[in-house]
Amino acid sequence: VREALGYASPLADAIFAVQGLGTFPIARAGSGEQKALLPRFRSGDLISAFALTEPNAGSDVASMQTTARKEGDAYVLDGDKCFISNADIAAHFVLFANADPEAGRRGITAFLLPKGADGLTIEVQDLSIDHPIGALHLRGCRLPASSVLGEVGGGFSLAMQTLDRFRVSVGAAAVGMARRAFDTAASHVRQRQQFGKALAEQQLVQAMLADMAVDIDSARLMVLRAAHAADTQEGSLSAAAAMAKLHATEAAQRVIDSAVQLFGGKGVERGNPAEALYRAVRPLRIYEGTSEIQRLVIASSVSKEYGA
Ligand SMILES: Cc1cc2nc3c(=O)[nH]c(=O)nc-3n(C[C@H](O)[C@H](O)[C@H](O)COP(=O)(O)OP(=O)(O)OC[C@H]3O[C@@H](n4cnc5c(N)ncnc54)[C@H](O)[C@@H]3O)c2cc1C
Repeated sequence: VREALGYASPLADAIFAVQGLGTFPIARAGSGEQKALLPRFRSGDLISAFALTEPNAGSDVASMQTTARKEGDAYVLDGDKCFISNADIAAHFVLFANADPEAGRRGITAFLLPKGADGLTIEVQDLSIDHPIGALHLRGCRLPASSVLGEVGGGFSLAMQTLDRFRVSVGAAAVGMARRAFDTAASHVRQRQQFGKALAEQQLVQAMLADMAVDIDSARLMVLRAAHAADTQEGSLSAAAAMAKLHATEAAQRVIDSAVQLFGGKGVERGNPAEALYRAVRPLRIYEGTSEIQRLVIASSVSKEYGA
């Protein structure tokens, strides 16, 4: 993030100090006892995770089916989560369940769920890239009421606040990947000779490099603007973060695809940096809200923010 932003940002500090998605909700809404865990996350002693997605509730988060039933001074959780990053290495999950299904999204509540809780099983999922990820299965998983994170019924808002923040860092990661692809491809075309001169001297190649540079620079500026909104709380973070994530991840995909093209056959050879980035960048357009969902977030703020 630091490399992509290129300057010292409190947001970048926060991302490094706490482990992003799984710790921001604790820092934002946790009790004193829950916050006491943060130094252990900061040191890397403990890993955290953010468990929102379900088999039947991905983009439509509010339709989640995991329930939290109050029983005396405990909650009993039942349901399934999937595609949870860090699932197999996390010590704690910030897990979202509905404590009042009749209230819809207003019943969604965040819980701090320890890995060893009775009734929780974890199943590793296998992706096309290196990424620790898995599914959580909750069957009569009993947690003390002190495991509620923030307000009962405040989980949907907490999840959205968390995603707004970390969409900025997904954008920053996309910029970092695109810059790496650009650097390796630009260095390759300076050296590779075809038709009696370096590829970098062919005008069609120069046009590709120019388009890549414009994509990277525009994405970087949008990420910086969103990071500034996060740091200063000026303007709508939601819209700025959605725009930054949408543009940076789509732009990075284009830049990395061009880098693969500029390497020719070597671009699809396993171990080539462009080939590895080509696989690595793809999930960024899906997680923390797909590109289509970012467009919906942006559209919902267009009239307020841009006077349309
Ligand atoms: C590598 C990786 C890491 C992840 N890590 C986490 C994590 O740590 N925690 C977590 O909770 N989740 C995580 N996820 C899950 C991720 O957030 C979801 O996959 C994502 O939100 C999309 O949900 P879905 O897969 O159910 O797709 P769906 O919601 O079924 O969407 C399928 C397609 O339909 C489109 N679509 C849906 N609704 C609309 C609409 N209204 N208009 C237009 N198009 C629409 C989507 O954009 C998408 O293209 C991760 C996913 C991946 C791939």
